[in-house]
Amino acid sequence: MYRYLPQQIFQQTQHRTPRALPRLLLLARNISTLMSLTPPTFGGVDQGVSLANLPKSHVFTDNLPPDPSTPTAKDAEAKPRPGPGLVKNAAFTYIKPEKTADYELLAVSPAAFDSVGLKRGEEETEDFRALVSGNKFYEEHYPWAQCYGGYQFGHWAGQLGDGRAISLFESTNPTTQVRYEWQLKGAGTTPYSRFADGKAVLRSSIREFIVSEALNALHIPTTRALSLTLLPKKKAQREIVEPCAIVCRLAQSWIRVGTFDLPYTRNDRNLTRKLADYVIDHVYGGVDKLAPPRDDEPDGPPNRYELLYREIVRRNANTVAYWQAYGFMNGVLNTDNTSILGLSLDFGPFSFMDNFDPSFTPNHDDESLRYSYRNQPTIIWWNMVRLGEALAELFGMGSRVDEETFTSSGIEQDDVEPLTKRAEGIIDRAGQEYKDVFIGQYKLLMSRRLGFRTLQDTDMDEMFSPALDLMEKLGLDFNHFFRRLSDLPISAMEETEARARAADHFFNANSAFYMPGMSEKTRVEARDKAVKEIADWLGKWRGRLAQEEGGLDDETRKREMKSVNPKFLPKNWVLDELISRVQREGERDILHKILDMSLRPFEDHWGPQSEWDEEDRLCGEVPPQDVGMQCSCSS
Ligand code: AMP
Ligand code: MG
Repeated sequence: MYRYLPQQIFQQTQHRTPRALPRLLLLARNISTLMSLTPPTFGGVDQGVSLANLPKSHVFTDNLPPDPSTPTAKDAEAKPRPGPGLVKNAAFTYIKPEKTADYELLAVSPAAFDSVGLKRGEEETEDFRALVSGNKFYEEHYPWAQCYGGYQFGHWAGQLGDGRAISLFESTNPTTQVRYEWQLKGAGTTPYSRFADGKAVLRSSIREFIVSEALNALHIPTTRALSLTLLPKKKAQREIVEPCAIVCRLAQSWIRVGTFDLPYTRNDRNLTRKLADYVIDHVYGGVDKLAPPRDDEPDGPPNRYELLYREIVRRNANTVAYWQAYGFMNGVLNTDNTSILGLSLDFGPFSFMDNFDPSFTPNHDDESLRYSYRNQPTIIWWNMVRLGEALAELFGMGSRVDEETFTSSGIEQDDVEPLTKRAEGIIDRAGQEYKDVFIGQYKLLMSRRLGFRTLQDTDMDEMFSPALDLMEKLGLDFNHFFRRLSDLPISAMEETEARARAADHFFNANSAFYMPGMSEKTRVEARDKAVKEIADWLGKWRGRLAQEEGGLDDETRKREMKSVNPKFLPKNWVLDELISRVQREGERDILHKILDMSLRPFEDHWGPQSEWDEEDRLCGEVPPQDVGMQCSCSS
């Protein structure tokens, strides 16, 4: 059993009755194939091309319907900047970034340059700087803002859309052929800004820039960050007045579950289908790139929308498994922040776990703990059911989905019942698949983190869960636990005493038995008991390693474990210090240092020896006052 998941993964999933399906009352591998879900990362494979030579496109605006008030780029160019408003029957609005005369390019990610196929050094050019600061765009690929809706904290929030993100174009890496959509976050208002200012503050931009690249380096599916630009004279009012910035971010697609929620709630069947076809053909690259049909399909062969749904479900299950295995929490898993590619998306009050506490939510405003660590798998499934509702009509129709009567006038009365039943079955089975992919991938990741090359049926109950129980009970740092384990010379630790001495390495000043006001005697007793418990677990771990071929070869195991257990993570306290030093002290080097550490998180050291103490501080104990730091949504 995976104890850090609510017992009933589906229990909290409430289903609404879709309008087109009046009776839809939804009920709620092989391990080696799971890893193939992880999108490949590309790095340093070739020299890249210049910005000018990078192949560009706008497949999104070419294939989806524009805001009818400005149907062409020309119309958008001719009209004054639009105010907020409802946008119907459309996937986007043409809108260009706002220019800002003063800007300073603070940092670029070399890894993201490699991913898009951009030549390193392009950041020195005026062209690049003007583009990523919102001061330039390509007329022939007129920029746009996406229209979407979303469920926020479980409630339907209506139309949201890109209120401060503007997409510039798509580029295709000439070597890998991977296409990325470039997007500026914080480059001005759009019709989707509602009552907000279209700006992003430096604080949240630094956080998004670093964490996007950190997650990618950990092999966790995520949107990326290419550059971070400070707008020193532009200010935004949040809790206090703060300087603004723009992150140029990248994703193979920015389409979210909320993109489907909106046309579905508006009963816009046409747009739902167009979006689904777009995602199949232009995001995934065709039906054959989606989840393959299963051997046993009780309701007959799946149509392309069912395969799309299953693919999205599988990808999200895979990503949540990574989040749980690495202690990452997004903090705001609304449907508008849930990607149809299973990417970690939209970084607000995110956090990496400090001392292991499954009930922890990094979101200061999340009083019901909806987006806590423990709840993430359930919440993503909740979001997947919302997507299932939006697509139910399409996959419920099965092989008849392209029939003229259905495409022109929808479901006929006689079809309602069989279609509903079919759709229910599809979502139900997708739920089982979600669980299977999640648990399978989670086990695989945890086994690697513990240095096992094989997975045994008993590992969850005998190794993973007891380790997590100990971390929770004793207040041990989640990430340090794995990294320190990696370094342990366990082969020599046959004796209990040796393991007890090693147990000491896992404590920190915030560990649970250091309660304020404890008498010295109680403290010593509590510590002795904790040491014994850890030593016992280490004994079992040693026994389990011995069952692996060459499992007690410390050097090999250390190397393998360190390649999956990062030394550095951009914890909230590190990001807070970084923000303060960049924003208030005017430092710049620290940004490059933390970026470098985020890009190569598994190293022991990054810079020359003179910097090792400082590096170790940044990887080390969370300052006591900062353990479990929460953030607000304001960004
Ligand atoms: P988020 O919490 O970042 O996922 O944003 C939720 C919605 O609010 C999205 O539609 C955003 O585009 C919009 N939004 C958030 N902050 C701003 C802002 N400062 N200006 C305009 N729109 C915003
Ligand atoms: Mg969002």
